[in-house]
Amino acid sequence: MGDYKICIFGSGGVGKSCLVIQFVQGVFTPKYDPTIEDVYTKTLEIDEKQYSLEILDTAGSDEFSSMRDLYVNSGHGFVLVYSITSQATFNDVQRHYSRIIDIKDIDTHGRPAIVLVGNKCDSENERVVSRETGQELARKWNCAFLETSAKDRTNVSEVFYDLVRQIARK
Ligand code: GDP
Ligand code: MG
Repeated sequence: MGDYKICIFGSGGVGKSCLVIQFVQGVFTPKYDPTIEDVYTKTLEIDEKQYSLEILDTAGSDEFSSMRDLYVNSGHGFVLVYSITSQATFNDVQRHYSRIIDIKDIDTHGRPAIVLVGNKCDSENERVVSRETGQELARKWNCAFLETSAKDRTNVSEVFYDLVRQIARK
């Protein structure tokens, strides 16, 4: 049984908590307290193997705290979330990526498992970041890419299944 630590990063308001809660509890909580940083657990069965996930839903502006760095260091996989309705959040996700790469000892552990996520894909009429733009960044990082809707539960499980499969392959 694999025990995997997963961290969710991204700007405030992109839907990190909604994604995690939709995945873990199967509900959309549109007004979740933006200041709460919490760890969720969930067991998954993939290809007849059990995986126990510990998911850190990060919050707040103190994103580069030393506590966070510790978590990144022990993290097996990372979900980097932006909102397709905000260019600024797409720019932010690149800062988070650089930070992870800086902290992780890539020479020892190889490249960490990452999924790039463009959330709020239900809001097509407010889209400012094209799917191709997201795909291009994922290609550059050599990582997986999914557009999701925490609201409609589109591709939510896929994010975590993909990440677990990536980690398991390492
Ligand atoms: P966080 O700060 O990244 O944890 O963001 P939250 O999960 O608290 O969500 C921020 C806001 O975006 C809330 O008002 C949610 O209702 C909304 N939201 C989150 N996910 C989605 C989504 O997939 N679609 C839409 N339309 N709104 C979403
Ligand atoms: Mg949150």
